[in-house]
Amino acid sequence: MRLVFLGAPGAGKGTQAKMLVEQLKIPQISTGDMLRKAVADGTPLGKEAKSYMDKGELVPDSVVIGLIKERLQEPDTENGFILDGFPRNVSQAKELDSLLGDLGKPLDVALVLDVPFEDLMKRLTGRRTCKSCGQMYNIYFSPPKVEGKCDVCGGELYQRADDNEETIKKRLEVYQSSTEPLIEYYRNKGILKVVEGTGDINAIYRKILVQLNPVV
Ligand code: AMP
Repeated sequence: MRLVFLGAPGAGKGTQAKMLVEQLKIPQISTGDMLRKAVADGTPLGKEAKSYMDKGELVPDSVVIGLIKERLQEPDTENGFILDGFPRNVSQAKELDSLLGDLGKPLDVALVLDVPFEDLMKRLTGRRTCKSCGQMYNIYFSPPKVEGKCDVCGGELYQRADDNEETIKKRLEVYQSSTEPLIEYYRNKGILKVVEGTGDINAIYRKILVQLNPVV
């Protein structure tokens, strides 16, 4: 299954994508994760991307499209993939359509996780991630048993550099102006599904599976 996950920063795309990866055995492709890795590795691409990411702005389309083009040619995408954080604007969505059209593998579903705007700030400022295994927590809603330590692997938890109030405000603005129009874009293509992203994580996951059926 070829799936695009849409939703504001903090809507839970990463968390739900990881759960789907386990079940569907297809990779999660997160441009945010790829860019953070490039920043951490200090590559030229990472250096270019960092200034945009620190400000909460979108990295130029040419950079992320280049990353996605390469990634979609990896053999593990043969049976499908979950795109998380890409596309972020209509021009990226058009590029993706043309890329997948060339490969003869169009998208099956664009799924929006819909979360009230007022919930997002707390979700993002409270977000913590395990450095070792990527497991996600929220210090307000789903804290680890021991502060700063991952329940799953004991790894150290960290807070993303862009999860501070000022940058979050900018990211939410960018979402509304650039990314939200994708909802109409995919609705017009007839592949949009909407799931309410509030409440228990497992309950949200079950709603996602219902929406993906019978595609899954
Ligand atoms: P994310 O982890 O998806 O929240 O992305 C973190 C940051 O990486 C964003 O605020 C952008 O600066 C950058 N980024 C991630 N994906 C994209 C994309 N598809 N297009 C442009 N910038 C992106």
